[in-house]
Amino acid sequence: MALRYHYNPETCRYEPIVVAPRVFFKKTFRFLGTSLLIGLAGLLYFNYKYPFIDESHLIKENQNLKAEWQVINSQLQKTSDQLAALEDNDDNNFRVILGMEPLSPSQREAGVGGREKASAEIPYSLIRNAIDFSEKIKNRLTLENNSMNELKDQLLHNEKQWAARPAIQPISNKDLIHLYTTFGPRLHPILGEWADHLALDFAAKRGTPIYATGDGYVDYASGGTTYGNVVFINHGYRYQTRYAHMSKYIVAVGQRIKRGQVIGYVGNTGQSKGDHLHYEVLIGGTKVNPIHFFQLDLNSREFEKLISLAKTDEALD
Ligand SMILES: [Zn+2]
Repeated sequence: MALRYHYNPETCRYEPIVVAPRVFFKKTFRFLGTSLLIGLAGLLYFNYKYPFIDESHLIKENQNLKAEWQVINSQLQKTSDQLAALEDNDDNNFRVILGMEPLSPSQREAGVGGREKASAEIPYSLIRNAIDFSEKIKNRLTLENNSMNELKDQLLHNEKQWAARPAIQPISNKDLIHLYTTFGPRLHPILGEWADHLALDFAAKRGTPIYATGDGYVDYASGGTTYGNVVFINHGYRYQTRYAHMSKYIVAVGQRIKRGQVIGYVGNTGQSKGDHLHYEVLIGGTKVNPIHFFQLDLNSREFEKLISLAKTDEALD
């Protein structure tokens, strides 16, 4: 056991300090007891503030979470790529086909917007990125969904417009004897005066069916005019067609009409010289040459036949 010394001036010597065993043990016990108490208190405080954790387990879990967030981010990226392909198809195919302007980048960007406030508190960049990304995708999807609805409406509008367009012949080629294509001034065969003939005359046997050339409704039907028995069809989209000199008509004012529906039969009523259909097409009230409409509806052989039956130097009314 190590000894401690003190200087004795009387003997002029260093003499060992003798500590009584009782005192020694008492001091030692007090010291150890105090240390134990302090240590215990520290341990309790530390455990309270920092719960016991297995650090290696935590590191592994953290790695797994990172990997999972990377999977989520890469899935979001794939979704974003697919959405971008859809947006591209919308702008460069659907809108071009339907004759609509593509959405501008600023329109698309405006729809993307920022993320919601609730997620701004999250400190982890991987999670924050994923939330930002998913919110942008959500906004882009909303915009694209609206765009698709707009395309659907336009398609419906175009369909109706195409159905309304006076696009077919009012007399079938198999029934046609002659087509008088004079559109403009001619000597009137009955009046003997020069006047504009702003129609086509389809010469055919009396009783030949006359077809409505587009969807619409009958806005005029009468028997007492120089047109003889005549039907006007309003097709909407500023189109109107007129069918004159019928032997009789079989539709009434206000009746809905589908393209290809028989509305009456060829005759020679009113101011007319011979059985034929006098057919007019009007756009916004102006008479236009009907041949520009139904020539698109025929294949080249049908159109050649039509032209071979055509006479351009006269009209039947
Ligand atoms: Zn005519």
